[in-house]
Amino acid sequence: MEKETEKVTEKNTVTKNFIELAIDKDLEEGKYTEICTRFPPEPNGYLHIGHAKSILLNYGLAQKYGGKFNLRFDDTNPTKEKTEFVESIIADVEWLGARYEGEIRFASNYFPQMYEAAVKLIKKGKAYVCDLSAEEIREYRGTLKEPGKNSPYRDRSIEENLRLFEEMKEGKYPDGSKVLRAKIDMASPNINMRDPVIYRVARMTHHNTGDAWCIYPMYDFAHPIEDAIEGISHSICTLEFEDHRPLYDWVVRELEYEVPPRQIEFAKLYLTNVVTGKRYIKKLVDQGIVDGWDDPRLVTIAALRRRGYTPESIRMFMELVGVSKSNSSVDYAMLDYCIREDLKMKRPRMMAVLHPLKLVIDNYPEGQIEYLDVPNNQENEALGTRKVPFGRELYIESEDFMEVPPKKYFRLYPGNEVRLMSAYFVKCTDIVKDESGNVTEVHCTYDPETKSGSGFNGRKVKGTIHWVAKETAIEAEVRLYENLVDESKGVYNEDGSVNINPNSLTVLKKCYLEPNFEGAEGGDSYQFVRNGFFCIDCKDSRPDALVFNRIVSLKSSFKLNK
Ligand code: ATP
Ligand code: MG
Repeated sequence: MEKETEKVTEKNTVTKNFIELAIDKDLEEGKYTEICTRFPPEPNGYLHIGHAKSILLNYGLAQKYGGKFNLRFDDTNPTKEKTEFVESIIADVEWLGARYEGEIRFASNYFPQMYEAAVKLIKKGKAYVCDLSAEEIREYRGTLKEPGKNSPYRDRSIEENLRLFEEMKEGKYPDGSKVLRAKIDMASPNINMRDPVIYRVARMTHHNTGDAWCIYPMYDFAHPIEDAIEGISHSICTLEFEDHRPLYDWVVRELEYEVPPRQIEFAKLYLTNVVTGKRYIKKLVDQGIVDGWDDPRLVTIAALRRRGYTPESIRMFMELVGVSKSNSSVDYAMLDYCIREDLKMKRPRMMAVLHPLKLVIDNYPEGQIEYLDVPNNQENEALGTRKVPFGRELYIESEDFMEVPPKKYFRLYPGNEVRLMSAYFVKCTDIVKDESGNVTEVHCTYDPETKSGSGFNGRKVKGTIHWVAKETAIEAEVRLYENLVDESKGVYNEDGSVNINPNSLTVLKKCYLEPNFEGAEGGDSYQFVRNGFFCIDCKDSRPDALVFNRIVSLKSSFKLNK
């Protein structure tokens, strides 16, 4: 498996994606001498896995071409923007390992240049102040089949436009009463080119500029200017902006930038059975359906980190997914595959029992504790060994015992012998039940000759189960996650609400762990043998009351049909 990833990486460096081919051509033709990309988030929510794709793509291009990568907040729409989001976004970008050039940038820092750019357009006769209401502007715009109509204000003189625009800035006009529009073509087949609004009057307090401005630029006007100011060569964005590209090109051309940036679109990343899209995630958070933006069932970067995903696993995932020109959904199982691949050789494999059943070894000396040598990772000797205590009373997984076993069940049942992992063979001799007939204790005898590593005369058993010694066990909470979304019903209901899987979170309060977790901290991850990969929760875990999140299960060889 390790080789497979290597092969994929190799392939990617040999076969270039369509963006790299376009960049190669631009460099060859001398359009640009240096490659500069950017990630331009709007600080109106936490970043999700889709944004991680954009970050790693943009950063990766800058790295490949020895260029620069900027982090710039696209904060031109103050209403939904918050400092909390700015901070979380910076933390996420850094965690992913994308190193941005110099200072963090804010589009709002360029408001003065954007204003000057608008004045320049007015002076060129390429922009005008329009008094139509939003509704009227929509009516005049026409449809996909019909051309639009010119605004009655379209032919205002340059002088009048300059005066009115300045007055807009000075606060002479109420919100929504006037806009500045680019003068392009009301008959254009591309509706984005039908004299788009580029500035509006809106009294909104901005998280960065406060009340300094009462006019704000529109995205399609602001974005190319931000790119040009920063010397961005390739402005990589997602497909929904394809129809806006002619406007992007118009803005950089009319403003006569010496090296105009070039927009290139790629398909958004979607995953099956998860909620991506800030809007939808925000709803789940606001409605209290999940426990905050970093609830481990979400695919925000903060949630993936809390759940135990690593930056390496996310980078591996993005390499496997590649860059595409058409929308499609990637199977979530691929992300699971990447985190398993990343952790399986790196992390120790510990004994932890999640659904405990007591096992008593009747012929083992009472009060004796024996420390067994256990390899930390059978596939990676470099991780060494540790001592795991063994005793007369143990916990095993309740599903590792059955009173009446089905065919091919090789674990414990009356009369059967199994190996206790890294310890001895035990044979089930008796069981104890409670009043309602549930098995509460399994009794066994052990064979001292079968100690793991001692050879044991070639005798074989078919099942190996894990265990934790009762006396020295640590009690912990373990949280198991399933898809937040009920797959059988699709992600969204007709009314736009999310089909929540009622079993998306299972909390197991009394799990028992071997005692080798001293000094473990939030964010540390482990394999629990036979149970999957688990990560200590950063928020809720305490040194004396550990809480683990299941990152991902192992592929299990035998599943009971319950
Ligand atoms: P959402 O669709 O979740 O609301 P957004 O596109 O509004 O996200 P922005 O903060 O505006 O979020 O996006 C920052 C950058 O991330 C943009 O360049 C955008 O194209 C890119 N991006 C957003 N979602 C995805 C995705 N699913 N896959 C790849 N890139 C994405
Ligand atoms: Mg957006």
